[in-house]
Amino acid sequence: MVHLERKLMKLLIKGGRVIDPASKTDKIADILVENGKIVSIGRVLGTRHEVHPAPNLVRGKRDTRVIDAKGKIVVPGLIDMHTHLREPGHEEEETIATGTRAAAKGGITTVCCMPNTHPVIDNQTTVEFILLKAKNEGAVNVLPVGAITKGSLGEELSEIGELKKAGVVAISDDGEAVMNALVMRRALEYAKMFDLPVIAHCEDKNLSKDGVMNEGCISTILGLRGIPKEAEEVMVARDIILAELTGGHLHIAHVSTAGSVELIRQAKKKGVKVTCETAPQYFTLTEETVSQFDTNTKVNPPLRTKLALEAIKEGLKDGIIDCIATDHAPHTEEEKNKEYDLAPFGIIGLETLFSLIITELVNKKILSLMDAIAKVTINPARVLGLNHGELKVGFPADITIVDLNKKWKVENFVSKSKNSPFLGWQLQGQVVNTIVDGKIVY
Ligand SMILES: [Zn+2]
Ligand SMILES: [Zn+2]
Repeated sequence: MVHLERKLMKLLIKGGRVIDPASKTDKIADILVENGKIVSIGRVLGTRHEVHPAPNLVRGKRDTRVIDAKGKIVVPGLIDMHTHLREPGHEEEETIATGTRAAAKGGITTVCCMPNTHPVIDNQTTVEFILLKAKNEGAVNVLPVGAITKGSLGEELSEIGELKKAGVVAISDDGEAVMNALVMRRALEYAKMFDLPVIAHCEDKNLSKDGVMNEGCISTILGLRGIPKEAEEVMVARDIILAELTGGHLHIAHVSTAGSVELIRQAKKKGVKVTCETAPQYFTLTEETVSQFDTNTKVNPPLRTKLALEAIKEGLKDGIIDCIATDHAPHTEEEKNKEYDLAPFGIIGLETLFSLIITELVNKKILSLMDAIAKVTINPARVLGLNHGELKVGFPADITIVDLNKKWKVENFVSKSKNSPFLGWQLQGQVVNTIVDGKIVY
C-alpha cells in the first residue's frame, strides 16, 4: 500500500528557501518530486497546482500533494552517521521502529546504526535482519555499520568482504576500543580493499579504566573517578599513524578534546586519509554540569572542559571536524536511575540534533547556515560514499523542511528512551516536515 501510494504520488514543495551545500545553492525555489526522486528544482512558473494557504499540507490537483514551504528552509534530509538503534537485543531501550521515528522528527532521513547490538552486527545474517526490519518498520533509511572484530571483542577480524556484500557502509567496534594495534592495522588494510571507512572509537581502556567523568579538578571535588583526555588522544594518535601506514580511511568518532582536534589537523595537513565527527554534547556542555550528578551527563567520551569545548567549536569552524553526529545512545529510566558510578554511558540525540546546531552554532556565529547543514548532510555522505545528503535531480527525494524562527521547548520524545540532558532547553529552529524517498514521514 505504501509503495503504491509512493509510486502514484507527486509532491511539490513550494516557495521555500532551498539550501544545498553540495551545489552551494541558497535560493527561493520549488522542488518537484515524482516516484520518490527529485525531478526538478527551480521556479515552477504558471503551475497548475493549487496552493492553499492552510493547512501547510494539502492535496492539489492531478494527484500532486503540495507543501507550502514559504518562510521555511528546505534542505537535504539529514544523515546521522552514528546512531545506536539497540535492535536486536535491547528493544526495551529502542527499536528500529521507534528510533527511526525519532530520527524523522529530528529531520534525519538516514541513520547509520552501530553494531554493538546483541548479537553484534558482525555477520551477513544480522545485517540482513536489520535491513529487512528497517524496510518493513523503519520510517527512514537505515544503513548498518558492521563490526571490525567478531563480537567486537577486539581479537579476530570479522568477514569484512561478507559484511560489505550484505550492505554495511563502514566498520566499527564502537562502544569498545580496538586495543590491539595489529588488529587495527589489519582492519584498515582490509577495509581499504573493500572501500569502507573504519570508524574508530578512540579510547585507551587502560587509561580510562573505571572512570566515569573527565579527569580534573571537578572529578576530584566530586569524588568521581576520572577519564583523562589522553585516553582519547593516544588512540587518535595511534590510529592516525596506522592510517598513514596502511592508506586506509580512518574516521574518528565523537571527537571531544583539543588535543584530538590538533592531531587530526596535523594529519590532514600531511595528507593522511582521516575524517572525523563530533556530537552536540561536546559543543554545548562541559564537565561542570556533572556536579548535579544527573546521569544524563554521563557520556563516553565524557564531557570535557570549557577549553576543549572551544577547541571543538574552532575545529568545526575551520573544517577540521567534518561531521556532526548524535551518538544517540538510548537507555531506560531504570538503567539511568542509578548512582553516577553505576549508570551506563550515553544520551539520546536524534530529536535535538538540528535545533542544537542552529541554536548553539549558527545563531552564535560559529558556523554559517550553509556550513552547518553540510556537517549533517553532504559531509557524512562523502565520508561514507552515499548518494544522499544533497538536493539533486535524479537523487532520492530525502528532504527536510525547517522553520528557522520557531522556538520550542524540549519536552516530549518519540524515542523509547528519554535520557537527554537537554530536557527543558529552549531551542530555535524546528523541523516541520521530513520526507524520505518522496514520502512524508513526519
Ligand atoms: Zn563510541
Ligand atoms: Zn556510539
